[in-house]
Amino acid sequence: MRFFKCLCAGFLLWMSGAGPVAAQDAELTEALPNIFCMVDRTGNGANSTFITTQEGVIVIDTRGSDQEAEQVLKAIRKATDQPVVYIINSHFHKENTSGNAVFKSSHSIIAQKRALAMIVLEAEREKRAITPPNLAFEKKLEIKLGKYHLKLIHPGPAHTDGDLYIYIPKWRILITGGIVFNQIIPFLGDSNIESWIHALVEMEDLDAEVIVPGHGPVGGKPIVTQMKHYLMELKRYVNDQLDDGKNLPDTMIFVKEKLKAKYSSWKHFDRVDENIVHAYVEYSAQRGT
Ligand SMILES: [Zn+2]
Repeated sequence: MRFFKCLCAGFLLWMSGAGPVAAQDAELTEALPNIFCMVDRTGNGANSTFITTQEGVIVIDTRGSDQEAEQVLKAIRKATDQPVVYIINSHFHKENTSGNAVFKSSHSIIAQKRALAMIVLEAEREKRAITPPNLAFEKKLEIKLGKYHLKLIHPGPAHTDGDLYIYIPKWRILITGGIVFNQIIPFLGDSNIESWIHALVEMEDLDAEVIVPGHGPVGGKPIVTQMKHYLMELKRYVNDQLDDGKNLPDTMIFVKEKLKAKYSSWKHFDRVDENIVHAYVEYSAQRGT
């Protein structure tokens, strides 16, 4: 597995041979030859990945604004003159889709069906302009461009109801969208923990070595397992409390202490409180209480 830190986008400027200057909010990494990931460094935004081929470029997630998307486009133009052919939105969240307009001349913008519906719904609700996907699928879709054959898979509800991840068997790489956060406490606001764990088990079973997460730096298969362990531990501790008939305030105090022992170094530990509430509500509902 090779990782090359190439240049910082977001604002890493090269000043006539003077080298990089300015603070960065995203950094470009070459996960594999011709597969680049712009890694959000803030813990708030999402990663964007692009694949350069001899027949054009594929972009997975367009980041949270036109300005951020322009930085992705700038990085693409440093790598190739080929047109952007496919845009893929891994799920509906704004930090993954708001830059779509910058790539609206591409051949297709692809999403899972429920992600498309949510993108449109959220934009209408917030009276916000959006460039929505124009190609949606239910369970699986395969696209080929140049020598790259991508399998787009909807594993069922996970981080959101309409997630997809991308598997390229030939290169043994997974581009996970929001299903994997690397060393960052995940956002669970639109999630189903139980089926998210199933999605991670499905991904663990794939023959992949390089994992490009939706949030955090590129890694190997252990980052899928780490994500699964976080959700499984959250599930176990909350269910232990439910078994003992504990109320939500007591559960929050107990589970937070348990999680702190292992996950306090992850970014956004402040999300743990809402994660515990989410788990308490999900598993209480599952018990019919
Ligand atoms: Zn998300």
